[in-house]
Amino acid sequence: MARVRLSRLRKSYDGRTDVLAGIDLDIAHGEFVVLLGPSGCGKSTLLRLLCGLEPITEGTLEIGDRVVNDLPPAQRGIAMVFQSYALYPHMTVWKNMAFGLKIAGQDKAEIDARIRRAAAILKIEHLLERLPRELSGGQRQRVAIGRAIVREPQLFLFDEPLSNLDAALRVQTRLEIAKLHRQLDATIVYVTHDQVEAMTLGDRIVVMHEGHIQQAGTPLQLYQQP
Ligand code: ADP
Ligand code: ADP
Repeated sequence: MARVRLSRLRKSYDGRTDVLAGIDLDIAHGEFVVLLGPSGCGKSTLLRLLCGLEPITEGTLEIGDRVVNDLPPAQRGIAMVFQSYALYPHMTVWKNMAFGLKIAGQDKAEIDARIRRAAAILKIEHLLERLPRELSGGQRQRVAIGRAIVREPQLFLFDEPLSNLDAALRVQTRLEIAKLHRQLDATIVYVTHDQVEAMTLGDRIVVMHEGHIQQAGTPLQLYQQP
């Protein structure tokens, strides 16, 4: 798992207005950082810069001990979990989880071992032969998380992963993600606009406002501030 460092990270889509106005952020190995803020403050943009889906306008992004500004997404050692699951509808759970690894040329025994481990952590062993449409929303999101785990990334990115789930499943999946963090010793950047999620999951909460970091601290530190 990796340390992540953002230095004066700036993003402008149109060359005039800054959506991210020079973000400085240092994320420790194994830390769970929540980006919290209202819609439009730049959270998703920041995630897209981290995983390489959008070019950085200015500044430096380091993952591990490498500057990754110009590295394509597949080489950054990152796995992302989206709110919409994005599972392949015609593939079984097993194949959904195996797909990325096959493309990357992993051998079958290794793919199999990784899927078994991830399925055990997420308690989805009994779902491996099912198609996504045969799963509940919560199960689908667990599979999406499983697909991220098997890649053994240096860094996990979560983009509002609970927002499509009902209240009970939100709580359950939230506990699942917290457990994952402890078990895998994973470095996680997690985006949400939900204060309860942020307070219960984050080692540190980074509050964003209009492309800036407004404040940052542990849940306790933020709670004690006026
Ligand atoms: P959040 O995830 O916090 O809701 P976003 O990163 O999606 O915020 O958006 C931040 C700002 O950047 C918004 O003003 C949004 O309209 C703008 N924006 C996001 N994506 C694009 C894009 N592809 N092109 C132009 N502007 C964008
Ligand atoms: P195809 O229809 O493309 O031949 P298969 O269903 O045979 O795909 O699966 C491709 C590979 O994935 C096979 O080698 C198979 O052994 C393996 N595989 C598929 N599902 C599972 C599973 N649940 N457990 C272990 N291996 C599986």
